[in-house]
Amino acid sequence: MQKQETRNFQSEVKQLLHLMIHSLYSNKEIFLRELISNASDAVDKLKFKTLSNPDLYENNSILKVQISINKKQRLITIKDNGIGMTRKEVIENLGTIAKSGTKDFIKSLNDSLDKKSEINSQLIGKFGVGFYSAFIVADKVSIKTRAAGVSIQEGVFWESSGEGNYHIANINKKLRGTEIILHIRPKCDEFLDTWRIKLIISKYSEHISLPIEIEMYNDKEKKYYWEQINKAQALWLKNKNDINEKEYKEFYKQLTSDNTDPITWSHNHVEGKQEYISLLYIPSNIPWDIRNRDYKNGLKLYVQRVFIMEDAEQLLPKYLRFIRGLVDSNDLPLNISREILQKNSIIHNMKITLTKKVLNMLMSLSKNVIIYNNFWKKFGLVFKEGPAEDINNKNIIIKLLRFASTYNDNSEQNVSLEEYSKRMIKGQKKIYFLTSDNYISAKSSPHLEFFYKRGIEVLLLIDHIDEWMISYITEFEGKTLQSISKQDNSLDEFIQNKDNIIKNEIKEKFQPFLKKIQDLLGKKIKKVKLTSRLINTPAIVTTDINEMSTQMAKLFAAAGQKTPEIKYNFELNPNHILIKKILTIKDEKYFSEFVKLLLEEAILAEKGTLEDPNKFINRINNFLSKI
Ligand code: ADP
Ligand code: MG
Repeated sequence: MQKQETRNFQSEVKQLLHLMIHSLYSNKEIFLRELISNASDAVDKLKFKTLSNPDLYENNSILKVQISINKKQRLITIKDNGIGMTRKEVIENLGTIAKSGTKDFIKSLNDSLDKKSEINSQLIGKFGVGFYSAFIVADKVSIKTRAAGVSIQEGVFWESSGEGNYHIANINKKLRGTEIILHIRPKCDEFLDTWRIKLIISKYSEHISLPIEIEMYNDKEKKYYWEQINKAQALWLKNKNDINEKEYKEFYKQLTSDNTDPITWSHNHVEGKQEYISLLYIPSNIPWDIRNRDYKNGLKLYVQRVFIMEDAEQLLPKYLRFIRGLVDSNDLPLNISREILQKNSIIHNMKITLTKKVLNMLMSLSKNVIIYNNFWKKFGLVFKEGPAEDINNKNIIIKLLRFASTYNDNSEQNVSLEEYSKRMIKGQKKIYFLTSDNYISAKSSPHLEFFYKRGIEVLLLIDHIDEWMISYITEFEGKTLQSISKQDNSLDEFIQNKDNIIKNEIKEKFQPFLKKIQDLLGKKIKKVKLTSRLINTPAIVTTDINEMSTQMAKLFAAAGQKTPEIKYNFELNPNHILIKKILTIKDEKYFSEFVKLLLEEAILAEKGTLEDPNKFINRINNFLSKI
């Protein structure tokens, strides 16, 4: 051995190994899934590289994974003839964790975990730290590897007992690829049983398109031989009718390292101008970082059965980034890169059809209310980016949106615009909505009083993104969407029936009063007027139809952007006792304080904040002191 060296693991790796060894008690068998998956990745990478450089095959072309067990010496060996690793790659891949998201995750897991609790074995594959799971069952792991295309002398030996450090050295290695030798822990005897290992492999690797062989012993002939365990056929190539549900689900799990069943899937062989196969899944499990728009799209890209890349994000729009699956194209060049993907017209067309496929899949899913609501709870927030991002499919996207509504007595978002339309009352032309910070403040908004009384449903838009999203939806099947916190002449007309009309004599009576208020408040407001929208509240503020709404201004402010100050309409309820009271006040100062207090109250109800809360409090205290 040459160039021997002992190196420390990066501190996150140490934390992770500690977790693996001390906190993972059940489901230990997943180590095999991870190591086989790595071997299969290594073979995929080799296949890809040999496209441009066939010499890398080194005349050793039957690609496979071989697993052998040595019960006496307590060893399991997993051998592949894939791409292998150079010394530098070994150090980078097996001693550090590069992804910062994964690092943070491990830190938080480590901090939050008390010694007795267990980490969830599902997380391991998801976070790209699968290799380290070898230490769940092994108290020592030795590796021999050589990268494809380098000389025999450039083999690398790596060994560690999973504590603080590892040893690395150069060795001669004749065969290209990687051999991982697990020295099985005393309490993990079960994994030294060939039949047990065989079962685990068939459980996790049925759909790996690479032959997996296990070494068996023939008692009669007293001979060892290799037995292939999996069928090694890519599932997506098979005819739909020949694949059952269980197989689709298992393939999903193997493809994504997500251990929960997907909600549904769509498998298509597309022929004609373009030829490709797509297999798209809707997961039932939310990835931890899905909210982030930088979250990588889950589709894998294959070209003529060769795996080309992970996360080919050009294949679907961002708002569908929760979709997992793969595309296998016959038309793309094999040497396609991410840069080319961006400009490629084949990809562009594929994206259009794949998007339609997903939307149609969601449309069928939406027929099952319970399942769709469950989907919406998980992915609705991401899907709401759709109306802004995908104008071409807006009509179908709008149908798929779900909202909280005054029709229900809870914050659940399960009302579609279609359902709302069916419940519209006679004479109602618009679809009404209210945006707010949260359900509680939406529900108690004074804007709703009238709608409650008249039994008109209002959609409650309570997610941050809603205000922005709804600005991209102006109508649904000919019906305008109208914010009830905005000035709305048609609403005024609509509600001016007998019991609501403000009689002319009242209007006249209030005329000088309104003028007085307008003079008093001056530029603080846009316009003061009477309203018949209110019942228990003396006054509200509204914005003009073309003006920025309060919620939108808040969004901008939260993003650190300057926004013009909102000028509100100040609308007064002539039937309210407080308004009737102010009408009779003679004292100018008292009148002015009263009006300002009402305005501040109305703004507080609308915005949830005031520019100068102290002024408001002083005013209230003054009034209280006079009681
Ligand atoms: P992931 O597979 O998600 O990248 P792992 O912890 O399972 O994370 O593996 C880390 C890295 O080590 C892999 O990305 C790969 O570069 C390298 N590696 C692991 N096993 C092999 C192997 N059998 N052959 C070649 N490279 C490997
Ligand atoms: Mg892996």
